[in-house]
Amino acid sequence: MTNGLKNLIGLSRADLAAEMATIGEKPFRAKQLWHWMYNRGETDFAAMTSISKTMQARLAEQYVVRRPRVERDLVSEDTTRKWLLKFDDGNEAETVFIPDMDEDRGAVCISTQVGCTLTCRFCHTGTQLLVRNLSAAEIVGQFMVARDAYGEWPTPDDGGRRLSNIVVMGMGEPLYNFDNVATALEIAMDGEGIGISRRRITLSTSGVVPMMKLCGERLGVNLAVSLHAVTDEIRDRIMPINKKYPLAELIRACREYPGASNARRITFEYIMLKGVNDSAADARALLKLIKGLPAKFNLIPFNAWPGSEFETPEPRAVKAFSDILQDAGYSAPIRMPRGRDILAACGQLRSESQRERASLAKARAAAGIPDEHG
Ligand code: SAH
Ligand code: SF4
Repeated sequence: MTNGLKNLIGLSRADLAAEMATIGEKPFRAKQLWHWMYNRGETDFAAMTSISKTMQARLAEQYVVRRPRVERDLVSEDTTRKWLLKFDDGNEAETVFIPDMDEDRGAVCISTQVGCTLTCRFCHTGTQLLVRNLSAAEIVGQFMVARDAYGEWPTPDDGGRRLSNIVVMGMGEPLYNFDNVATALEIAMDGEGIGISRRRITLSTSGVVPMMKLCGERLGVNLAVSLHAVTDEIRDRIMPINKKYPLAELIRACREYPGASNARRITFEYIMLKGVNDSAADARALLKLIKGLPAKFNLIPFNAWPGSEFETPEPRAVKAFSDILQDAGYSAPIRMPRGRDILAACGQLRSESQRERASLAKARAAAGIPDEHG
């Protein structure tokens, strides 16, 4: 709700039709609105020319079509772009556009929660105390903000868009907010709207085993699993969720993931932490662990943040690890941290913004100036 006006973004097709029914409108009105909102990216009812002027006015009395507010918009030297978004309650989250190295397209990385309850030791987001789920509007709204920024409305028919993929890998655990994530992704996949196919969407989970099958069945998106360790002992230590859903259960859920095949492999993300999980023996154990699964790997050298207890491994160790996986026939690219100069590591920009605000408040207090809230 904004000033008592309800945001139409984030309603499923069925809910939008139901909403129109409450004001006495027929289902075709929902179809028209859907096209304007999600194909054309229109936010102003008055510009929705297929809708009569009287109806436009009625809609404007009760509804808005709104994105999260862009608080900061940063472009990195390597063309990674990051938006810090502010929601109606003042909470913030991050969205990042990560262009492919060699192509003129790339993926928009979206967040699903403010903060994260899971406290993985290497992850900056997990250190943020305040956590809440993002709504479907706030989730799909992130992709819409990116399209606004690159002028990619209306949805082109030929697929010739720069923002070609979605990765659900930002702040938060998507399978702990599944309903909203599913509604948002269904909106993004809708062919009469944003039109990003499920094959171009990858959802990353830390391993919420009981939700994985449902995710595959309902959404059919590509799955990425944040594995990061090959023994329960190490995984327990760096990812507390492993105590609840240990490796054997996680790997079983991967084997049963609907739609996984050689053409659609499961991505195993593996953060490399110096001296913790980066040895040649770890690489060989990893091969054994995922044997028989249609898999590929993403090796991510740890992106250090102030106060973290881990170090980035030597490039030699990362290369050797990657070679072992590749020699066994798997794709195992090394993902260099992108956008370092704009704090593109997960959760960093939001924390930075909070820190700035805290030091501003301190400076204000020292100078005897009251802060905005009195
Ligand atoms: N919660 C989900 C999705 C968000 S995290 C998950 O954990 O999969 C997205 C990815 O960023 C995960 O693979 C996570 O392990 C990785 N990541 C978190 N902190 C990192 C850091 N400091 N350096 C490199 N990768 C990091
Ligand atoms: Fe949460 Fe993922 Fe970060 Fe773990 S890595 S704390 S699950 S966002």
